[in-house]
Amino acid sequence: MRYIELLNKYLPLAKLKGLEEEAVKLIISEIAGYYQTEIYLHYNDVIPHKLEKKMVSGIEKYLTGYPAQYILGYTYFYGTKILVNENVLIPRFDTEVVVDFALKVAKAYHNPHILDVCCGSGAIAIAMAKEGYHVDGLDISKKALKVANENALLNNVKIHFFESDLLRNVKEKYDILVTNPPYIAKGEYVDKMVLDNEPHLALFSDNDGLEHYHNILKDASRVLNPGGTIVFEIAYNKAEVLKNLVLMYFKNVHVEKDFAGNDRVMIIN
Ligand code: GLN
Repeated sequence: MRYIELLNKYLPLAKLKGLEEEAVKLIISEIAGYYQTEIYLHYNDVIPHKLEKKMVSGIEKYLTGYPAQYILGYTYFYGTKILVNENVLIPRFDTEVVVDFALKVAKAYHNPHILDVCCGSGAIAIAMAKEGYHVDGLDISKKALKVANENALLNNVKIHFFESDLLRNVKEKYDILVTNPPYIAKGEYVDKMVLDNEPHLALFSDNDGLEHYHNILKDASRVLNPGGTIVFEIAYNKAEVLKNLVLMYFKNVHVEKDFAGNDRVMIIN
């Protein structure tokens, strides 16, 4: 089979199911080892049989509603490869903006000690460590920490990842806490592919999605150095209500938007 035939067969099927044609293309190019649009140069090439088998089984799995990133076993975040499996949330493009702002914050410190709270795959911690910062990461999930450690190894960075329910086991002091905690309110709409496959532990939070933020805020002064900063990823519709909560514990808070123009990052000190 040629690439063009494979695409002609599966792109319409994805569309019909309301799934992403881009994900089908991604599965094909990644398995072929082609970079992004490179696949267009190979439309008429015959696909090596072994690869074709792998592509077809991957695409068929995607068409059942399973995330392409879990099928491949990795995704890309902040320009690096991040391994993923069902024990970790798939890093979102939106979260790259959180890294952007956390790096801006970090620049204002001399040699800051940074903690990624609820690190999951380690994506944020690794992106910051690759910029030369001293970063630790924590997560409640042992299985997530295993993935985070593999990702640190893959990306050639040294990060101390440890198990902790939010800040409970944190012994050291930090200048910056950065976190993309679970923040979806129970019962809130979630895309079916996300709901059916990604870890609910990493998605949902009680009290209208605010429970994890509140617990972090309550304990933050114990683990932050004087003059420390917290960087939260936030839901597009939660800035106002979260601000009120933050102001019970901290003096300054401001909100930054993501590429889509939605509230996405909260910076607190
Ligand atoms: N932004 C993620 C989503 O929409 C949720 C991540 C989270 O709860 N921290 O699926």
